[in-house]
Amino acid sequence: MQIAKDAVVEFHYTVFEGDTQLESSKDSSPLAYLHGHEGMLPGLENALDGKAADEKFSVELEAKDAYGPRHDNAVQRIPLKHLQGAKVWKPGMTAVVHTDQGQRQVTIIKVGRFNADCDLNHPFAGKDLTFNIEVVSVREATSEELSHGHVHGAGGCGH
Ligand code: ZN
Repeated sequence: MQIAKDAVVEFHYTVFEGDTQLESSKDSSPLAYLHGHEGMLPGLENALDGKAADEKFSVELEAKDAYGPRHDNAVQRIPLKHLQGAKVWKPGMTAVVHTDQGQRQVTIIKVGRFNADCDLNHPFAGKDLTFNIEVVSVREATSEELSHGHVHGAGGCGH
């Protein structure tokens, strides 16, 4: 089947800035999302629309269509206990913090004893990105997935 609204899509991606590879899903499981429910970058979702399993293609997204521009004054001091993803923090590492708007990725700038200065820009903000996409599978969502608005794994809803 082709990717359309309410399809559950699994895909692998490798993202580049110019020739530099920034991130790839190839080392782990493919990314799964529910198409047409705003769970994916709109530029990627548009490009995936109508594709089928095993299709490979690449998409170029300007920063404004990907993770938006960088903001220069987006540095904030965050208690270490609120940073998730590692036990010991060093500048340049990426941490996850939970905010009122959900999870966000931040980049550690400077680490103190109890707090770290963090750049709140998404690590890919301000970058023009190229995504190499490989569609792994496409299926129809179950009615339960549709009512929750997200994909369930083999074990059902995880929450
Ligand atoms: Zn659920």
